[in-house]
Amino acid sequence: VSFGFQEIKADEKSERVGQVFSSVASSYDTMNDLMSGGLHRLWKDRLVTRLQPFAGMRHLDVAGGTGDVAFRILREMREDQIRQQKESDSPTLVQLGRVHVCDINPDMLQEGQRKAQKQQIGEEGGLAWVVGDAEQLPFQDGSMDAYTIAFGIRNVTNIDAALAEAFRVLKKGGAFHCLEFSQLALPGLRELYDAYSFQVIPQIGRIVANDEASYQYLVESIRRFPDQNTFAALIRDAKFSGVSYENLSGGICAIHSGFKL
Ligand code: SAM
Repeated sequence: VSFGFQEIKADEKSERVGQVFSSVASSYDTMNDLMSGGLHRLWKDRLVTRLQPFAGMRHLDVAGGTGDVAFRILREMREDQIRQQKESDSPTLVQLGRVHVCDINPDMLQEGQRKAQKQQIGEEGGLAWVVGDAEQLPFQDGSMDAYTIAFGIRNVTNIDAALAEAFRVLKKGGAFHCLEFSQLALPGLRELYDAYSFQVIPQIGRIVANDEASYQYLVESIRRFPDQNTFAALIRDAKFSGVSYENLSGGICAIHSGFKL
């Protein structure tokens, strides 16, 4: 079966990705819930559990979009801050730290800022919204304790460049965690999954967001992305140590982790 995959050039790809996310920004959160049956929430929770956020950390969430992952991380940092404060005998305040939400698309960030304001998240200064490209991060060398990217790296034109940038901005000992769609580890489910992805998702896109083409792109980009082991090798090539991955929901997604030693 051909799904009409086409090879697209690098500059066309970034233009297309820009259009897709500007077009889906306002319906993005609803669509995530609908398409994944709410599973994306559990996948993001798992990413944050693996990260183990702590009070005072400087965190970078790349391709942070509407802030879903950043809000979870900040909440954990805040809980750790309260816990440490309670346990401490010193009158000095335990620092909260900061999560930098970086995304190339200002429309997605704006949607995130709107959400944060509505839910009163980040009012204590724990969030920074930064427009920037994963391939050329606007942050200094060795400035971050950890780096996350959720459902972002497959949209990046040059994955090697994005991984090199992740390595550059991390402090020594810093952690890299990437949540991304991956290849099903249970081959029997593939046909069902393909039918759902290629037939149902673009239709949900058409009905709910009036935008079938963007959701068609999203599905195709998932299939083009390297499998678990190939992606792990790319992370090792980018000089990360202790690289491992964990499959979620039978390999629909995977979390890849590595460390800058
Ligand atoms: N991380 C969020 C989440 O899980 O809900 C958003 C994921 S969304 C599928 C992908 C995001 O990647 C979009 O907001 C898009 O603008 C961003 N993106 C695409 N290419 C990028 C790049 N080169 N640098 C930074 N962000 C990029």
